[in-house]
Amino acid sequence: MMRVAQKIRIYPNPEQQQQLAKAMGCCRFWWNYALNICNQTYKETGKGISRSGLNALLPELKKEHEWLKTDVYSQSLQQTTLNLSRAFINFFEKRARYPKFKSKHGKQSVAFPQHTSIQGDDLKLPKIGLVKAVFDCRYAGKIKTITISKNSTGRYFASIIYEVEACFRSGNGDKILGIDLGVKDFAIVHDGTKTSKYANPKHLKKYARNLARKQKKLSRKQPGSNSRQKAQKIVAKVHARISNSRQDFLHKLSRKLVNESQVIVVENLLARSLAPYGGAGSLVNVRGLVLNHKLAKAISDCGWGTFVNFLSYKLDREGKKLIEIDRFFPSSHICPECLTQQPKMDLSVREWICLNSACNTRHDRDEAASKNIRAEGIRMLKADGSAVSVSGGSVRQDRGRKTKVMQHPVKLETTTSSR
Ligand SMILES: [Zn+2]
Repeated sequence: MMRVAQKIRIYPNPEQQQQLAKAMGCCRFWWNYALNICNQTYKETGKGISRSGLNALLPELKKEHEWLKTDVYSQSLQQTTLNLSRAFINFFEKRARYPKFKSKHGKQSVAFPQHTSIQGDDLKLPKIGLVKAVFDCRYAGKIKTITISKNSTGRYFASIIYEVEACFRSGNGDKILGIDLGVKDFAIVHDGTKTSKYANPKHLKKYARNLARKQKKLSRKQPGSNSRQKAQKIVAKVHARISNSRQDFLHKLSRKLVNESQVIVVENLLARSLAPYGGAGSLVNVRGLVLNHKLAKAISDCGWGTFVNFLSYKLDREGKKLIEIDRFFPSSHICPECLTQQPKMDLSVREWICLNSACNTRHDRDEAASKNIRAEGIRMLKADGSAVSVSGGSVRQDRGRKTKVMQHPVKLETTTSSR
């Protein structure tokens, strides 16, 4: 993990400005109070005071000054202590000057190390509520600390520290990847020369069986009983474990693929749940419905939506592209060699031979789909005006450009004539 900082302008309303002024005043008071004590102790003993030593003074001080309890979020005061002890460390390690007292007339600030979030265009701060903010870009990381400051001209800013994944800028691959999201395998990836299959993690299945067992146990407990509550907690824990390890798998795989590529092409997710036979006009029969239902469940279990979301923000952050191709694109029954459309196939058909007698190529169903998805993505890139080298399997693109081609309707005719 690494940290990135973002500074944005915020617009607190008059009431929030008043609350912020109070909180900033409390932090300033505590900083000056603690600094004064540090100075005295240093003079008398030649030693400093530890951060925990300083925090230990707070309860007494709060009894003396009620407003330190009411006007400021207690974590903000603790953050001030942290900042002060850091200032001393920097001074002792000769990186900074001796800490100074804060003036009422200088820049004011208050930090929120916990219970903050971004909600749409607003920042949520404890004790303050939702504050209007203007974001120039978005980071997909965990928020660590938000520091609100007010400069001498009366403008308010928020410095947001995010924790993001360590390999933030590492991937310089130049591939275009087509990904078919499967049920048997989680993802089938074609990069122009080879196909890689990524299986669903095995431990998820094990967890799922475990979950089923615990849920059965839960269902046998008397409503309202203690043992039922216990069983409920156990089920919740298994749920959390499954969700964590699934997220972990999805993060690692999406990171790997983003590192390898410049462009990733996926099928619009709705495509898979609505038309597993690969076409909008599929005849829906009873068996199809059942299969469809099963498939829909498998899809939600596999976390495809989350996966595409992870791909999307990771690519976006590095100026790379995600292309979602149309759900009516028949990726699973076109021959990638000669582009002849094949008859609709049942999901159980894993291999097929192209019906064009001049071609007759044997295809693995998933591999063919990932090849077709990739080719369709490249066709869309071309239509979008990006420079694409199909044979080399790479795409030249200005780094840092953040465009996304999404959900364009594509006609089959243009696909078949584009090679
Ligand atoms: Zn063929």
